[in-house]
Amino acid sequence: MLPLADLYAVYGASGCGRGVMPLARQQLAQAGIAPERLVFVDDAPGPVRVNGQRLLTYAQFLAEPAGQRHVVLAIANSAVREKLAARLIQEGVRPWTVHATNVVRMDEVVLGEGAILSPFVTLTSNIRIGRHFHANLYSYVEHDCVIGDFVTFAPGVKCNGNILVEDHAYIGAGAVIKQGVPGKPLVIGRGAIVGMGAVVTKSVLPGEVVVGNPAKPLQKKY
Ligand code: UDP
Repeated sequence: MLPLADLYAVYGASGCGRGVMPLARQQLAQAGIAPERLVFVDDAPGPVRVNGQRLLTYAQFLAEPAGQRHVVLAIANSAVREKLAARLIQEGVRPWTVHATNVVRMDEVVLGEGAILSPFVTLTSNIRIGRHFHANLYSYVEHDCVIGDFVTFAPGVKCNGNILVEDHAYIGAGAVIKQGVPGKPLVIGRGAIVGMGAVVTKSVLPGEVVVGNPAKPLQKKY
């Protein structure tokens, strides 16, 4: 008897997932894997197909006959990614990294499992990146950066050299982060949010929200 073929899923069929699906499709085509082995998974009810690909619930995905199952978590909310990543481990589902064909990856890049690297992303040299990283369109990570788990870069993020981005940080579209110093990186703290277009010249505390140029903590209005 032939072994069952593997099954691949883009988890999340909303904006993020629909942007990742074409990359996933292309990646599998290059590996000679049939397009029917690729599905969307989403917990919300939806149509039978989304952009030509079957849409399954997670339970249906697990019930579908398959060899190994592979999932890329295409959901921008990093807390949701963390919750779902734990579930995948429990079910023996493998985290899957999906990347555009034109991603540039230089020397000594350690990339954690389950990443999404969108078109025109560049990872230069001597970089360490944790699990389930999202680097959206045209983002770059320069030399000697360390990036934690479940970090999200919106499109066009410029993350210059010697920057430490801690777990669950979210960097908005077009933000620029100033280069740090070797041995004294600029730090974007755990769960911090950098607003779109911000120019970050100093470290950002964990959980802080910064906006503007130069980026400053967002004043809460009560
Ligand atoms: N979703 C899910 N399971 C969860 C949380 C979210 O399937 O536990 C799905 C949700 O139904 C939606 C998608 O993930 O289809 C998230 O889409 P959203 O528009 O919030 O943002 P995106 O991450 O696509 O930017």
